[in-house]
Amino acid sequence: MTQVEVWNADETLLHRVSVRHAVRMIWRGVATPVEVHATERFGPYQVPVVVRLVRYVEQKWLYSRTRATYSREGVLLRDRGQCAYCGRFTATTMDHVLPHSRGGATSWANAVAACEPCNARKGDRTPDEARMPLRWDPYVPTRVQLHFARATTPTPSPTSTERKESDP
Ligand SMILES: [Zn+2]
Repeated sequence: MTQVEVWNADETLLHRVSVRHAVRMIWRGVATPVEVHATERFGPYQVPVVVRLVRYVEQKWLYSRTRATYSREGVLLRDRGQCAYCGRFTATTMDHVLPHSRGGATSWANAVAACEPCNARKGDRTPDEARMPLRWDPYVPTRVQLHFARATTPTPSPTSTERKESDP
């Protein structure tokens, strides 16, 4: 799929993302379309060519490679609120991949974002035992990645459950 340019609030190019990701940014109100395809549509939206962040992201962060300190909030940010098991953007909890009760560490490499139903369903089991394969491998993010995620991914609020079919 074609890539969409993401501009900082000052209209400098930051990076490129998928159309789906860009539309989600527009839908969440963190970016506004600058240029769109005249005819192509993605759900209720015209397919963007360029989007611009509503909030300015400090450029100096983009060059930092410092690893971020682990935090539960950081896990949700790193995974952009997406559940590592079902893939829906409704994750509000952190799941230990190898359960804490079985020696799993509380660390970036053993933590993923998960929605409450998936977290409850997985319970005290490994992904293999629960037959709930991870959609990605957890990793240690840099401070930049978290900073950027914070700027582009508002934490899902309890009120964001009034999602309709228009949710891209
Ligand atoms: Zn889930």
